[in-house]
Amino acid sequence: MTQAFVGLGSNINEPAYQLRQACMALISLPNTCLIAVSSVYESSPMGPSDQPPFLNACAQIDTTSDPAALLTALLKIETTMGRVRRRHWGERCIDLDLLFFGNTSVQTERLTLPHPGLYQRDFVLKPLADLLGNEYLMPNGVDIGTLLGKCSTHSLRLSAVQLDLGEIPGTPL
Ligand code: AMP
Repeated sequence: MTQAFVGLGSNINEPAYQLRQACMALISLPNTCLIAVSSVYESSPMGPSDQPPFLNACAQIDTTSDPAALLTALLKIETTMGRVRRRHWGERCIDLDLLFFGNTSVQTERLTLPHPGLYQRDFVLKPLADLLGNEYLMPNGVDIGTLLGKCSTHSLRLSAVQLDLGEIPGTPL
């Protein structure tokens, strides 16, 4: 069983609804248990600025899948939820990134672990800090608080929308 973290993002088609649907899909993944979901944050877009702000959160999972199979499952969720790739870093109904997978390093054509943006993005690090604490040492040996102090900022603010796992159907709570 490996502890892994998934970054969730959405900025179109009712982002709060999209994050909720994505959580339901994570709950339904085979060989995987959804353990926790962070607070939800609003952030300014990283790419083109003529798009709505994002809602971001992170999910903690335990899985017996291997990283490649898990990535395939995440990409399938994105497709099933209707994600269309229009422009680089553009608007999307759902984005699921495999942030890290235990201490596993992978560098293949379709999968990089830890995720290349993991240490540089406040909208990833802050939700991770909710789940793990600022003192948690990331796979590169640096604690989240230190990384947060150095990373790029995207006007991160706590969203009025929050995910309550207890209210999501299928949660084994
Ligand atoms: P995007 O959805 O634009 O963030 O990029 C998705 C593409 O990035 C997919 O085709 C994946 O094959 C590739 N990719 C590489 N590493 C990762 C990762 N750690 N998590 C999610 N996608 C990844």
